[in-house]
Amino acid sequence: MKTSAEIRQSFLDFFKSKGHEIVPSSSLVPGNDPTLLFTNAGMVQFKDVFLGSEKRSYTRAVSSQRCVRAGGKHNDLDQVGYTARHHTFFEMLGNFSFGDYFKRDAITYAWELLTGVWGLPKDRLLVTIYHTDDEAFDIWHREVGLPADRIIRIGDNKGAPYASDNFWQMADTGPCGPCTEIFYDHGAHIPGGPPGSPDEDGDRFIEIWNNVFMQFDRAADGTLTPLPAPCVDTGMGLERVSAVLQHVHSNYEIDLFQHLIRAAGALTNTSDLENKSLRVIADHIRACSFLVVDGVLPSNEGRGYVLRRIIRRALRHGYILGVRGAFFHKMVAALIAVMGDAYPELVAKRELVERALATEEERFGETLGKGMKLFEEVAAKSTATIPGADAFRLYDTYGFPVDLTADIARERGLTVDMDGYDRAMRKQQEDARGASQFETKAMLSAEAIQQLPATAFLGYDSLVADDLKLVG
Ligand code: ATP
Ligand code: MG
Ligand code: MG
Ligand code: MG
Repeated sequence: MKTSAEIRQSFLDFFKSKGHEIVPSSSLVPGNDPTLLFTNAGMVQFKDVFLGSEKRSYTRAVSSQRCVRAGGKHNDLDQVGYTARHHTFFEMLGNFSFGDYFKRDAITYAWELLTGVWGLPKDRLLVTIYHTDDEAFDIWHREVGLPADRIIRIGDNKGAPYASDNFWQMADTGPCGPCTEIFYDHGAHIPGGPPGSPDEDGDRFIEIWNNVFMQFDRAADGTLTPLPAPCVDTGMGLERVSAVLQHVHSNYEIDLFQHLIRAAGALTNTSDLENKSLRVIADHIRACSFLVVDGVLPSNEGRGYVLRRIIRRALRHGYILGVRGAFFHKMVAALIAVMGDAYPELVAKRELVERALATEEERFGETLGKGMKLFEEVAAKSTATIPGADAFRLYDTYGFPVDLTADIARERGLTVDMDGYDRAMRKQQEDARGASQFETKAMLSAEAIQQLPATAFLGYDSLVADDLKLVG
């Protein structure tokens, strides 16, 4: 069995053998892009190279990029624990061409790695292409030999072309192009339909690798002009491909997660390692630790508030498992055991990470139990909806971020009255303004959390700078 560490290395080595420069992962806090909350894809550190405003000494690069998708309208936080394939933190393996090779090489490299080097069965793989991309179709069908019924054309189901899963664009204008995505079929015993079908959100057909072809320059009037030097930007989730290569169906069954889940089980005295709360804790320790490594600390605004929300969610899952003291920061040792080699910065900042998490545990530990008691009382009286005023009280008095309350509610088949929550928040802010000439404390309203618009930034989920201002 290949470990995830070996799979990461084998990806880097493969593309190195194809002339790619191995580039280390950049920080989760994007240095070159104030418009983005967190690094959410491998291409982020190369954005200016794609745009042509930055030159590098190489035209081919490969990386394993740490990513967080836990902010903005399309964030994956609410998927964690509910799907077998979405994490708040994950590693994106990617190869990049800056005006060097294009579709043919990108597709044939991907196929060679998956089926040649890694030996995946060809009949378990299928791909999507942008519906008009006959060039990609021909490469997949004629050159690679993939049967036509395993090449699915995905159209503009949501109106504008760039709304398609298989066409991305950087912004309203600028470089854009179609993409082809590679899916693995985990087998008929798992629920879910093929991409493009009504039940595509199941866990049977898993998207493992996205290959984006930056091909056009889009003008303000919508016209597409071919780029003089088309580029390639790809991304493959290390955890998803590890599941495939380790013959398991869920990311949580791979070596790396199993280690973290066993550690969480030991710390919370939980023997059922399938327990969903253990999975969430194993997921969240990665996001929380690496965010601290990259300089984010729990706070009430911006990036720090996202971190606080993830930590508090993890602590609540510990509470579900019966933990009544601090435990989360003790997970860092287990994380270092599985990721310390690949990320020496994690080892170097261990103490800082443990201290930051322990401090937050202490702070929230004082109110978590009382808040849960209040929640139970409210839930017992509520048929479908937790009143906004109660959600606000949980926030204001017990430090429950409203998305945490919504998550707890969801487990009971309840929702939170977000409008009511926002009204309560606004009323408190107005009262505070009336009562004091000083600035009111920074708060993140439910609206700000739920409604943050995502930019079409290279087709990846992201946040714009204005969103950060909303929460400051
Ligand atoms: P999905 O449709 O499954 O949400 P995506 O289309 O949003 O994935 P991309 O933006 O295309 O994902 O990112 C490239 C690759 O990164 C995906 O093919 C997948 O392997 C991986 N990936 C994306 N989001 C996550 C996540 N939240 N956790 C783990 N891996 C992810
Ligand atoms: Mg997604
Ligand atoms: Mg997708
Ligand atoms: Mg995708």
